Amino acid sequence: MLVVMQEGASEALIQKVIDRLIEDGFDVHRSTGIIHTVLGGVGGPAEFDTAVFEVLDGVKEVHRIVSPYKLASRAFRPHGTVVKVGGVEIGGGRVVVMAGPCSVESREQIERAADIVADGGAQVIRGGAFKPRSSPYSFQGLGEEGLKMLRAAADRRNLLVISEVMDSTQIPLLSAYADILQVGARNMQNFNLLRELGKIRKPVLLKRGISATIEELLLSAEYILSGGNYDVILCERGIRTFETYTRNTMDVSAIPVVKKLSHLPMVADPSHGTGRRDQVPPMARAAVAAGADGLLMEVHHDPDHALSDGAQSLKPDQYAGLMDQLRLIAPAVGRTL
Ligand code: PEP
Ligand code: MN
Repeated sequence: MLVVMQEGASEALIQKVIDRLIEDGFDVHRSTGIIHTVLGGVGGPAEFDTAVFEVLDGVKEVHRIVSPYKLASRAFRPHGTVVKVGGVEIGGGRVVVMAGPCSVESREQIERAADIVADGGAQVIRGGAFKPRSSPYSFQGLGEEGLKMLRAAADRRNLLVISEVMDSTQIPLLSAYADILQVGARNMQNFNLLRELGKIRKPVLLKRGISATIEELLLSAEYILSGGNYDVILCERGIRTFETYTRNTMDVSAIPVVKKLSHLPMVADPSHGTGRRDQVPPMARAAVAAGADGLLMEVHHDPDHALSDGAQSLKPDQYAGLMDQLRLIAPAVGRTL
């Protein structure tokens, strides 16, 4: 249920409504908008009369939320969420580019990556230190050593860091080095991990599962939001279909659909979305044109020798050329880059 307070409702009136919601068994999530404060009541009794809240002083209107996700629904924050981290805003006017190698491989590699991505205009460097690989015999990442290298390279070029957390025991370590914690496609429904991420106060980028529906993605986000961590960024990264030419099928339509259904920022990963570096630029362009709030892309100084995902990693000149194109496309859809 959503209780929308009247414009300028006093703190005392808001608190009275919060107290009543708690009394009736709801968990209360507060969203302070530019004009209205919205109180989301979740987990309360199955049957209740909205009129009880409609008549309380300071209440403008009350809505039942029919979607299975409540806090992730756009109704909770009609104006959208802007995730603010280290001077970067995700979900605002500027399309945020997060780029870098699939995995942190060595100090030299990640330092070179930092120069390439920063020179091209990215604001965040990516790089996995813990890698979810399909085969246990593939490179699994450098762990904490990799995170140290990534942080140092990022700091030298004034970039933020995004890196993947694979299970809840890694949250403290990742939080110490990364600005944004990535939840990989394979973990989108690792509900224990999601609940633990709800308890921290760091942004989480949640990737769509390999065969997840948009509703399932939003329900997974709801796990994090319901813990009180509202800084969630969603990511389309391709889904598995009958098509085999590309590694996955990049569902560009998920971008406007999520933007309609949810207030959360939505970014796109055309690298995993296609699995082929020749198809990354067109899908990156399409994602920005479709309204993505950001891009997550794999870039490597020598992709042919990358330890993971080389085939889908952009070469430095390809990345630079793509960024130039995106700087033309973004203004056409009312954004900057
Ligand atoms: C990655 O970003 O390198 C990654 C493993 O992504 P996904 O979880 O989307 O496969
Ligand atoms: Mn990868």
